Amino acid sequence: MISNPLIFVATSDIAGKTRGKSFPVADLDKRLKRGVGWTPTNVQITCFDAIAESPFGALGDLLLIPDAEAAVSVDFEDGGPPERFVLGDITDLDGEPWSCCTRSILKAALERLRRVGGVELVAAFEHEFQFLPTAPTPGQGYAFGAFARRRAFGEALMAALEQGGLKPDTFMKEYGPDQYEITNDPSRGHVAADHAVMLRELTRQTALRMGETATFAPILDPASVGNGVHIHMSFVRADGTPATHDPAHPAGMSPLTGSFIAGILKYLDSIVALTAPSDISYLRLTPHRWSAAFNNLGFRDREASVRICPVTSTAPDSVARQYNFEYRAADAAASPHLALAAIVHAGAQGIEETLAIPSVTEEDLSLLSPSELEKRGYVRLPKSLPEALDRFAGNPTVTGWFPEGFAKVYCAHKRGELAWLEGKDTAERCAAYAKTY
Ligand code: GLU
Ligand code: MG
Repeated sequence: MISNPLIFVATSDIAGKTRGKSFPVADLDKRLKRGVGWTPTNVQITCFDAIAESPFGALGDLLLIPDAEAAVSVDFEDGGPPERFVLGDITDLDGEPWSCCTRSILKAALERLRRVGGVELVAAFEHEFQFLPTAPTPGQGYAFGAFARRRAFGEALMAALEQGGLKPDTFMKEYGPDQYEITNDPSRGHVAADHAVMLRELTRQTALRMGETATFAPILDPASVGNGVHIHMSFVRADGTPATHDPAHPAGMSPLTGSFIAGILKYLDSIVALTAPSDISYLRLTPHRWSAAFNNLGFRDREASVRICPVTSTAPDSVARQYNFEYRAADAAASPHLALAAIVHAGAQGIEETLAIPSVTEEDLSLLSPSELEKRGYVRLPKSLPEALDRFAGNPTVTGWFPEGFAKVYCAHKRGELAWLEGKDTAERCAAYAKTY
């Protein structure tokens, strides 16, 4: 068949969807300057394709400008055309970042961290996903047989990620039915979020090319475990030296790390609407699911919202480089850029407020009474998306981190998503999210 190869320029939008337009690859140089036209109201297209209330209506024009550094080209060698896409930034016609461009929002948050903390963020997104329809075969948790059944998929995915410019780390069978986990190496700044988008799309495409469907929906069945996104973070100074670890602290946190984590914990209940942004995200954020239910810090504890991760070395230099913590209250309904922006702003706020290094939780918080929790300074995370949106919209410090007008657009978008789900029971809601993510 004749062919003029196309490349798709994309934004990772408020719905956590990768949306954009394509043009001939041959025009890439021209498009790197000129971009493609984009419509403001597109930001209100929910994950179910309903259009939420939009302040922009039919008006306005924007540009989606590809970033040559964020281009992916993968030849699956399966007889089909190579997959080509490139991430970009949305600007107004004068070239100024648009208020709802998630990538620009993340870049601004990282700039704030640079300013207040003097450090660069290094991050990696750890993803869980499931194949549809799931086959709940007993005995498959972490099992060789279940891995071997998906070996061909895992090997194709590893190759696709590598061609896409990511460094794949591990592929494993997770605990849940037909649930797998894929990790890749950390990167600096916004590139970590770019890589998360690429990883999600390449995982879905690898599955589709093999006649399968992979979903990153936050949870498929409330009786089982969810699909988490754990965001690993550490810091380096401008000269590249690590700045996360301090051997003098019992849990290893440098004062900067401690204030950053304290900021996350302080603002967690108000940012979770951005990091776990679907209706069913709140079925996952419940105790004893190894996700996150309280604003607590754990030392290697998988029930904590923020967890200090293990290091595999004892040599001081390697410990300093490997030492990292992860944010566990995220899922793949969130744009990686927006989720990371919210976390970085909360951390930067913690640094600005010179918050003290938080203490590590050593008990099961779900066993404490509400008054006991309050006495110890813990907050139960919102139990539903409407509650999470109220906490976000009601916290002027948090909404103030984002461009003018963004919080209102975001809440209207999410309320539109909720309206579409009205009348559907839990199973129907999970099924709808399974299809869209
Ligand atoms: N599936 C769990 C989640 O929803 C995470 C399990 C793990 O610790 O890897 O976050
Ligand atoms: Mg896992």
